[in-house]
Amino acid sequence: MSKDLVIYIERLREGESTEIDEVLSATDLELEDDQLHFMPDIKLTGSAYIAEDHLVLNLDISANASIACNVCNADVKIPIELKNTYITKDLSELRSGVFRYVDDLRESILLESPSFAECNNGSCPERTTIEPFLKKEDRKKEDSEVYFPFDDLDEKMEAK
Ligand SMILES: [Zn+2]
Repeated sequence: MSKDLVIYIERLREGESTEIDEVLSATDLELEDDQLHFMPDIKLTGSAYIAEDHLVLNLDISANASIACNVCNADVKIPIELKNTYITKDLSELRSGVFRYVDDLRESILLESPSFAECNNGSCPERTTIEPFLKKEDRKKEDSEVYFPFDDLDEKMEAK
């Protein structure tokens, strides 16, 4: 079951602020993705307050994700640290007096998450076993260019 991540705006009138201190899971945030897996204990701290006609959430987010290595498919651990991240909302959009911020929070986290990674700090050991194949591919391409005798064929056709 998802946690109810809500801010009650009425409590923030008169310049009050409210502390945010949550420990969440990927499920709470609906952070389920085929590529990117989030470890439990996504830590969220910060505060919410009203500035002019906006609700402001000032957050620190700390999470650990893993993603499959681009080359060998092994899990690569990725720490995700967002310091001093802001989520703001126009108060006129929050007439219910309640702000559920799970969607905005998820978006903030995903914006900071890579969509691919390579293990061993970017030098996957399997890269060396793949590289000879990549080079061969390149050579093939060059060869075919050498054996392409119709380079000026188009021009000849046009000249007719
Ligand atoms: Zn790898």
